[in-house]
Amino acid sequence: MFTLALTKIDLLNLAYLAAAVLFIFGLKMLGKVPTAARGNRVSAAGMLLATVATFFYLTGATAVSLLWIVPALGLGAAIGLVMAQRVEMTAMPQMVALLNGFGGIASLLVATGDYANRRGSFVAIDQLGVDAGGSPGFTLGAIALAALIGGATFTGSLVAFGKLQGVSWVPDQPVQPPGQRWIVFGLLAGALLLTAVFVAWPGAWGVLLLVTLLALGLGVLLVIGIGGADMPVVIALLNSYSGVAAAMAGFVLNNYALIITGSLVGSSGLILTNIMCKAMNRSLMNVLFGGMGAAPAAGGSGAGGSGGATVSGTAHEASGADAAIVLEAARQVVVVPGYGMAVAQAQHAVKELVGELAQRGINVVYAIHPVAGRMPGHMNVLLAEAGVDYDTLLDLEPSNVQLRQSDVALVIGANDVTNPAARHDTTSPLYGMPILDVDEARTVFVIKRSLNPGFAGIQNELYFHERTRMLFGDAKKVVMELVNELEQI
Ligand code: NDP
Repeated sequence: MFTLALTKIDLLNLAYLAAAVLFIFGLKMLGKVPTAARGNRVSAAGMLLATVATFFYLTGATAVSLLWIVPALGLGAAIGLVMAQRVEMTAMPQMVALLNGFGGIASLLVATGDYANRRGSFVAIDQLGVDAGGSPGFTLGAIALAALIGGATFTGSLVAFGKLQGVSWVPDQPVQPPGQRWIVFGLLAGALLLTAVFVAWPGAWGVLLLVTLLALGLGVLLVIGIGGADMPVVIALLNSYSGVAAAMAGFVLNNYALIITGSLVGSSGLILTNIMCKAMNRSLMNVLFGGMGAAPAAGGSGAGGSGGATVSGTAHEASGADAAIVLEAARQVVVVPGYGMAVAQAQHAVKELVGELAQRGINVVYAIHPVAGRMPGHMNVLLAEAGVDYDTLLDLEPSNVQLRQSDVALVIGANDVTNPAARHDTTSPLYGMPILDVDEARTVFVIKRSLNPGFAGIQNELYFHERTRMLFGDAKKVVMELVNELEQI
């Protein structure tokens, strides 16, 4: 008779397999706004399953003390809960940067902690010259790589956090010492060389320490050289690094769940990095070493002083009543949301306004730029929260088709993603970034509080165009005013 005898390790691996399936389905669901929240829950359930299974396996199979694990789990969960509840949607990129950094340092600590535990046996195996039980060379390589990638992710993420949070001693502009690219490559080559030395001399903990120090420096140097406007790409990349570091730690511990999760994070982070580079029409090398956003040596202009041709002219202001009349007479309106809509939390008011227009038979769509706001999918998340119909959210290219034939482009707190200089001003740091061609619409209304620049610190020439009218004020207030005016027409 066939009997199935499962050992504890079999059960653990089955749980890991189930967790991996949940991660993969979760990731798939995260790709679409309607299923994203469910995808998040499914992935979180996978993580819970893997954590609980590991917990019971370790406490049952080894002499691991609960004294450290339980308080650490409780503390970590409490900090995560408070952070997640307190964080503003607009500060989400900073939080993701911190979480990436924590992931990096965790992998570094796990790998080096495991090395400290097993150093004696690595040395013994090396001295005997026998490969007793597994491949120490492979494990040692994984330990050093986890320290290298995890360390660089940790410090790089802290610098990215500082830039996004506006920490005073972390400059927003790129800081690139002469030959920065070659210093970075030199540090990386040095760290890889030391990794090989570490594999050859398993007892040389000092070499591992050196790899770690080089990695910490590498992370700072790499990210400090990148301007704040490129942080979204950097965060996606650091996310990918934290995944690769976790996969390395998984190889060290021979833990399948960690290897699979790390690989999924690593590859999805890399895919997102690629998508964002494409959205900005930049290569990854250009983002990492191009120094976009550096202050010009002389003659630079724009309110942020961050390059680009001098923008001059007169911006024309309109009243809410005037704008409502033009909107009422339109056949097609394209709404272009940006970071200002998020700050003002105007998404519900925007939906109300669109409802007013739709009632009058006006065709209204939303033009969503891939880097509008402060995180990938920022606008989609906000508009989904307000219950906007997903079919009316258009990506960049279809948006530009619609803008060409629209009567009104209504820009709500968007700035950089609408700057026409990106198309023609070769001196502008935004040059080459695909933008929403709002200036193609017959009339452009821009809602923002002033003529101040946006994230990239560059003055927007759109505000001085003939057909542009500024509606100065907080996005939510102005949109509500438009709703009121429309109701009175
Ligand atoms: P911008 O940062 O270019 O501009 C936002 C504008 O919103 C500002 O000019 C500001 O003008 C206005 N604003 C702020 N608060 C309010 C308010 N309460 N009411 C009305 N307006 C307000 O935003 P975009 O969305 O156009 O572009 C995103 C930028 O952020 C890009 O440069 C992108 O690279 C970068 N970025 C994107 C990330 C992402 O993943 N999406 C992450 C990090 C950066 P004023 O002060 O005059 O009101």
